[in-house]
Amino acid sequence: MRYYQRWWLFVVTLIISSVSLADNVVVRYDNPSDTRLQSIAEKLKADLGIQDTIALMNEQFIFPEPLTIVFGGRDGPLYDPQRNHILMPYTFLNDVERRFIAVNDASTNNADANVTQAVMDVVIHTLFHELAHALIANHELPIVGKEEDAADNLAAVLSIEYFENGAEIAISAAELFYLEGDDIEEFEDADFWDEHSLDLQRYYATLCHVYGSDEVQYAYLLEETGFSPERGDFCIAEYENIANNWLTLLAPYMTPDTINEPEKDIIGSIFIP
Ligand SMILES: [Zn+2]
Repeated sequence: MRYYQRWWLFVVTLIISSVSLADNVVVRYDNPSDTRLQSIAEKLKADLGIQDTIALMNEQFIFPEPLTIVFGGRDGPLYDPQRNHILMPYTFLNDVERRFIAVNDASTNNADANVTQAVMDVVIHTLFHELAHALIANHELPIVGKEEDAADNLAAVLSIEYFENGAEIAISAAELFYLEGDDIEEFEDADFWDEHSLDLQRYYATLCHVYGSDEVQYAYLLEETGFSPERGDFCIAEYENIANNWLTLLAPYMTPDTINEPEKDIIGSIFIP
């Protein structure tokens, strides 16, 4: 089970400032009619990692208008800039679960729990990805390059920097990219002009950033991915860059609260007032 590193400080801060924070991020859980989706909705509501993610979004980021997260519906996952809504359908979770079950060894201990954990990891990573779009739109942040790549980068940075063992969240998201990429039998032109990078590129980029965040703990990823030593070295520099650049860009739109600063030295100084 993964917990937000400083969850107890969150509780204290939320009690102190519950009035001002109440409307920053609003969450709505639609009631699914389908029993299968109802059980997914219950798992989602009960998941501590998801609740910590929502608390983090509410606590750390400033929005001129409240950001609404809607679980349910048919569209998404996406960020709707017109309504300032993040849409996360239960059917997406169902689809992700189906993909992980298909490749999970059901005979291992805690097989069901492992699948559920991987699904929730993907939801956290996806919420952070959509949060990036929301922050870019709300604050008109300058992004040079593909916004979709930038959103993936922020999702990796927030997962890794704010959650204990948060790299595992990014690794689950990378696994999903890999499985989605596996669906493609033949590339079409649309795959190349899509605003997203190819699934396999997103898989490798995410694992590159995980490796780059801690090349000792995730040394095994060099072999797993087949990265050359040169690429591995560049992953380290690349991760430091994206973490520094994103958090520098977001600093004016984050609560100036040193209590919740990430622990890593490379970015910790950004939050010291
Ligand atoms: Zn996106």
